[in-house]
Amino acid sequence: MIAQASVRMALIYKKPKIIADSRELLELAPARISFAMRPRDKVYLSDALAIASAVKYLNDNPKSQLRVDIADLDFDLQRGAFFVPYSKNPNSLRTIKEILDLFAELVSEDITLNGRISINVLSQWMRDPDFMEFLVRCFSDPNISRAIKLAISGKRGKPYKVPFSPICPSCDHASCAFAVLSPDKQILSNVCKNPACKDHGKLFSRNVREPGAFCVFYFLDNAGDAFNLQGFGLTDVHFTALDPSRLWGMRRLSIAQINATLLHALSEGQAQTAYYKSPRVADIYAKKLSFNDFVRRTGLDHLGNFCLLMAAISEFHRTEPTKTDFTMADLLR
Ligand SMILES: [Zn+2]
Repeated sequence: MIAQASVRMALIYKKPKIIADSRELLELAPARISFAMRPRDKVYLSDALAIASAVKYLNDNPKSQLRVDIADLDFDLQRGAFFVPYSKNPNSLRTIKEILDLFAELVSEDITLNGRISINVLSQWMRDPDFMEFLVRCFSDPNISRAIKLAISGKRGKPYKVPFSPICPSCDHASCAFAVLSPDKQILSNVCKNPACKDHGKLFSRNVREPGAFCVFYFLDNAGDAFNLQGFGLTDVHFTALDPSRLWGMRRLSIAQINATLLHALSEGQAQTAYYKSPRVADIYAKKLSFNDFVRRTGLDHLGNFCLLMAAISEFHRTEPTKTDFTMADLLR
């Protein structure tokens, strides 16, 4: 049951703690950290760098745990009127496998990491009935749904429109238009916008409790931070390769502020997540580089390269604790 008081609080945008200094992070010594990523067409060097920074933190803090959320059912307005969800895209499925293989390799090489890393692929995580109920609550409780939409767009919108997008059963495409939720809160409906689909222009429906049947708006990729998973608990610090201070949308709120407001609403005021701006690659050339291209360049294997990234982070924690923008020269020296 959501108390009115907590909903009123949720409508006030939360000012989260943003950490950009690695000394501050080490002093804070969070027990539970998280990182969320979209499985795009490849593992980018920037993703590998953010993961290396999280694993480096686990090495520095033997009691800490990491949760990695792979948002294979994410969407945003920039993906166009219709799109193939990552969960249905062969390139993205390869990316997910590459990430899972990398973590398996890391854990087999370093037994101190054993049992301290949990990886959740969103479409699979939906098979957990508790997590599914948590997600369903995001839109079936009108107060939470309103708080989510206010945080995203500053508008309440129509009460039956929710920031989820069901996947068309005929063509496996979703739409970036928010879906309509049935009055009994059981069915999500949308119109298929894919011109190549036999049901183009027609209304289709999916059951909200069917795992993997719908995409979630990308500000909810971090929703796991507010979900009290058994043995993990709420997230203390969320590592992000994006700048959490970056302003977003018409209301010019920071990304961290919007996320913190959502987490506050979803956790009924329990989540107190801080944001750590993890290292990222700054140069244009390196930004386009996949982790595999980087591997080919250095001549080391995957794990060797990953250790190289951790060593670079380690060196900068020592000499320049506020450094977050890395160049290729930084990584290769
Ligand atoms: Zn379709």
